[in-house]
Amino acid sequence: MKNITVIGAGTMGNGIAHVFAQAGFKVSLVDVAQASLDRGIATITSNLDRMIAKEKISEADKQATLANITTFTDTAEGAKLADLVVEAATENMDLKLKIFKQLDEVAPANAILATNTSSISITKIAAVTNRPKQVIGMHFMNPVPVMKLVEIIRGYDTSDEVTSAIMEMSKALSKIPVEVNDYPGFIANRILMPMINEAIYSLYEGVAGVEEIDNVMKLGMAHPMGPLQLADFIGLDVCLSILEVLYDGFKNPKYAPCPLLVNMVTAGKKGIKSGEGFYDYSQSKKAETLAAQFVKK
Ligand code: NAD
Repeated sequence: MKNITVIGAGTMGNGIAHVFAQAGFKVSLVDVAQASLDRGIATITSNLDRMIAKEKISEADKQATLANITTFTDTAEGAKLADLVVEAATENMDLKLKIFKQLDEVAPANAILATNTSSISITKIAAVTNRPKQVIGMHFMNPVPVMKLVEIIRGYDTSDEVTSAIMEMSKALSKIPVEVNDYPGFIANRILMPMINEAIYSLYEGVAGVEEIDNVMKLGMAHPMGPLQLADFIGLDVCLSILEVLYDGFKNPKYAPCPLLVNMVTAGKKGIKSGEGFYDYSQSKKAETLAAQFVKK
């Protein structure tokens, strides 16, 4: 596999394009919004600059990485030569199904179609294509250039060959792949989201304040970031939609999203990206500091 198409240039898409390009693959980065592509390339450039400052890569490595990335606003154009497509568009079931129907038509017949979805069923996505054996979950963690894990999710029909090709590909990116089966939330979010939800319930019920809850988990459990701060970082809307997938998928009330989380998302408080969540990010410096602290660890 040489040619990689990444669909979506947002938080995850630009990180995924970055790691493939830095590992020497030719990357076609596709987004419906030119502004997202511009922001994506600017983010990759500043992340590469940070790596130069830390003497992890050279200026020549930066230039080679950037030269490996071409941007497109047209999916058919961006996917026509793909050996592997990694979809990282907005977490919305209807949108993903529409994108995969189109990818199945425009990507070469032997291309593997992977999705970075946090929670949507791989089997369901695969079912809208004529190549369900070649559809797989490739769930990177945020921030992609820093985090080692890739959760590899086998759909009901995903073949052994495709699974091992994607495991090997993850290693080629210097990541550590972990194979899991396709059930709601996979492993990462099935365990993480109930913890975040419980932290929000503890706040909602007045057991402790925001900083107290985060400090207990940081100082007592050696978590690099408290659960409420992490929820702000992930996006409260994203947390809510993953909890809804868990709740719908298992029909178990233990996954019911906390009413406070529902209220905050309804009020537009989505965490760092909206300027306010459990913490106040209205001074952009503060938001930057929080994200940068996490990246350092
Ligand atoms: P984001 O909102 O930052 O970016 C999504 C991008 O997709 C936007 O730039 C948008 O313009 C683009 N897009 C929308 N429709 C498109 C289309 N039809 N074709 C091409 N591009 C399109 O979202 P994100 O946080 O990067 O999440 C992307 C995916 O990664 C989601 O499935 C999410 O669940 C998953 N994910 C997110 C995180 C996280 O921490 N944010 C972690 C792991 C996985």
